[in-house]
Amino acid sequence: MEVTLLEATSDPEELVCKAARNDYSGEFVGGQPFDATMETVEGADMEEKKETLIGHLLEHGHFGPFEHPQITFAVKGVSRSCMAQITRHRHVSFDVQSMRYVAFDDIDPAKVREGELVVTPPSATDPDWVGRNQKTGDIDEETVERRTEVFNDTIEHAVESYQELLDLGMPPEDARFVLPIGTKVNIVMSMNARMLMHVADMRAAADAQWEIRNLTEDLLDIAADWCPITFAHYEEHMKNRKNRLAP
Ligand SMILES: Cc1cc2nc3c(=O)[nH]c(=O)nc-3n(C[C@H](O)[C@H](O)[C@H](O)COP(=O)(O)OP(=O)(O)OC[C@H]3O[C@@H](n4cnc5c(N)ncnc54)[C@H](O)[C@@H]3O)c2cc1C
Repeated sequence: MEVTLLEATSDPEELVCKAARNDYSGEFVGGQPFDATMETVEGADMEEKKETLIGHLLEHGHFGPFEHPQITFAVKGVSRSCMAQITRHRHVSFDVQSMRYVAFDDIDPAKVREGELVVTPPSATDPDWVGRNQKTGDIDEETVERRTEVFNDTIEHAVESYQELLDLGMPPEDARFVLPIGTKVNIVMSMNARMLMHVADMRAAADAQWEIRNLTEDLLDIAADWCPITFAHYEEHMKNRKNRLAP
């Protein structure tokens, strides 16, 4: 998978602070310079003032101001299974690569075994991988070799069948019914900073599946550059306190 930043609100934390100060100020935040808006907030300089205010908001559950900054990510090559999970979040906006208008007719089915078009879960190849809902304990090399063989044979055959159905004139939106749920998809998704923390609450947690956890950790890495004070605070004080942002 690959996750990149497409667009984001510039000065997101200044925006959070302006929105929050609006709530407690007699002055109009739209009509004054930012340093006047922040004048009574504790801190030796503007960076410290922002830290004080943002930390206070997050600690006291005053999450509304974090709904103003928006960020848009482009995500490449997650499974349709992962897509089904992330698209459950109703305050995130999505664009999903179509299987009606994009046909995978030029993929070499043999390359599917090597990771093209279909995501390979670690449990298909890694004997040491322990999945949360795994029914058996340790597995031997022979078992994992058989897993790899069954997995690869199945996805290769599925892609061959899909391409044969396309050759037989079936429309891509119907031929896709034979493709595996691990088929890769590209997604563009937008959300606000509060929602990103909520997604992380749910999807960076230990009980989430490895793929959406990896995706969420990549989102958080980008967010740490975008809103450094907010996501440093989130990482240090709030992460793994599940469902805190939308109780
Ligand atoms: C580990 C894990 C396992 C899961 N397993 C399953 C499963 O087996 N089957 C399944 O169907 N789903 C499953 N889910 C999905 C889960 O039930 C939620 O649908 C998903 O995580 C979206 O999160 P959310 O409910 O917080 O809603 P979001 O859409 O992210 O909304 C954010 C918040 O807004 C509020 N909200 C939004 N819409 C409403 C509404 N209509 N009414 C009231 N409040 C609302 C809630 O406070 C909500 O928390 C799983 C999720 C996780 C993390």
